[in-house]
Amino acid sequence: MTITDPEKKKLAQEIRLHLKICLDCGGRNSIYADRCRKCHKSHLRLKNRALRAKK
Ligand SMILES: [Zn+2]
Repeated sequence: MTITDPEKKKLAQEIRLHLKICLDCGGRNSIYADRCRKCHKSHLRLKNRALRAKK
């Protein structure tokens, strides 16, 4: 699937980079997740890679 809409592509990239990683099982969770969807613990850290280098 190719995304041609630059707005959607930007959004998709941001969502892809805004993850929460479980510290217990290493599972990837949504940025909105409070608990890990795999082990249901709340040891989540943000995976927040800054994509916007230039403003
Ligand atoms: Zn987990």
